[in-house]
Amino acid sequence: MMAGGTAGSRGLDVILIEKNDTLGKKLLLTGKGRCNFTNDTDINGFINNIPVNGKFLYSAFSKFSNRDLIKFFNDLGVKTKVERGGRVFPASDRAEDILNALKRYLRENNVKIARGEVKKILADKQKVLGVILKDGSYISSASVIIATGGLSYPDTGSTGDGYRFARELGHSIVTPKPSLVPLETEESWVSKLQGLTLKNISIRVIDSNNSIIYQDLGEMLFTHYGVSGPVILSASSHMRDMDKNKYRIIIDLKPGLDDEELDRRIQRDFSRYSRRYFSNALDNLLPKSIIPVIVELSGIPYDKYVNQISREERKGLVELLKGLTVTVSRFRPVREAIVTSGGVRVNEINPSTMESKIVKGLFFAGEVIDVDGYTGGFNLQIAFSTGYVAGQNC
Ligand SMILES: Cc1cc2nc3c(=O)[nH]c(=O)nc-3n(C[C@H](O)[C@H](O)[C@H](O)COP(=O)(O)OP(=O)(O)OC[C@H]3O[C@@H](n4cnc5c(N)ncnc54)[C@H](O)[C@@H]3O)c2cc1C
Repeated sequence: MMAGGTAGSRGLDVILIEKNDTLGKKLLLTGKGRCNFTNDTDINGFINNIPVNGKFLYSAFSKFSNRDLIKFFNDLGVKTKVERGGRVFPASDRAEDILNALKRYLRENNVKIARGEVKKILADKQKVLGVILKDGSYISSASVIIATGGLSYPDTGSTGDGYRFARELGHSIVTPKPSLVPLETEESWVSKLQGLTLKNISIRVIDSNNSIIYQDLGEMLFTHYGVSGPVILSASSHMRDMDKNKYRIIIDLKPGLDDEELDRRIQRDFSRYSRRYFSNALDNLLPKSIIPVIVELSGIPYDKYVNQISREERKGLVELLKGLTVTVSRFRPVREAIVTSGGVRVNEINPSTMESKIVKGLFFAGEVIDVDGYTGGFNLQIAFSTGYVAGQNC
């Protein structure tokens, strides 16, 4: 939409081809329906938050920055706001407002919208000729911009078609992999916590060398296969070498208290409930559904009276609450990932124009390119900046 509207603003004759009945199906899901469309950081902040090929985007971000994007939406009537971590949203909290602004941009710039599925891009002597749709119709064109997204959430339309088009035209594709994705874990107790959300926890991710590769504070969720939720999705994009590493996630259930403070807190609860069984004395400390798991992992008999629990046992309990550990076995599949890592190899694309270095008139924008960022609005800014540059240069 950004690429099409920008090309249209130059007076070009533009057709946007979309295989869904409606535009922006994925956009409406973003930021839990609120659309975190960019971040309030500077250009280096962007590059640092884009671990895969961030530097390739330097030129695109210079030509169309987060400031330009915020102004772009403001000019189209969308008020914006900044939240924690520099995340920028529409002030209305409605992704629909962002989509409507883009539709208006397309209308104002006379972009024709064609409902159809592109099947093939035609080229001759390394020069684009046009596209063939699934229904057999042919549209000739001096330029084609591939903005088909990745392989994540295929119900929204991103089914990896762009990788195939690019490959057929001689481009190489870095194997698509999930990023920002839920994680499967080894421990059998995890499935017992299915559906439990933990707020205000902190996590540390440890690799096989016992180095901390990521830490975060926030919310997570247990599922039947493992773990998910904001801090887990962010952590997943730091697990760059799943084959060589056995990653462990250490969950601190009480990050606001140090060991001694937590011990004193437990002692207070234990003296209040001194005549209760251990398993009935943790209600003030933990969500109900996690108590049986903590009791089991602590090794303290559930039916031990709390006034008989030793200092050593209490120390073990503190360690457990501040270091509940899960071992990551694998990523969930790419279709469940928020973004797809991998895609069209960046050294085959001109970073100042987004034009293919292999086929003249062929351009790329968005997630189809081998770039991906962390959470915080970076992925949509990538799509908007590269879309703008492709639209300016096609
Ligand atoms: C649940 C969820 C939440 C997210 N939240 C955020 C967020 O808050 N902030 C953020 O920065 N990023 C977020 N992202 C990531 C962000 O949505 C994507 O990176 C971004 O949408 C990529 O834009 P794109 O235009 O490249 O591809 P897409 O948005 O996937 O659009 C590609 C379009 O191409 C169409 N298409 C594909 N193949 C064909 C074909 N052959 N013919 C015709 N049309 C075709 C598709 O139907 C689709 O409409 C989120 C992703 C998900 C799944």
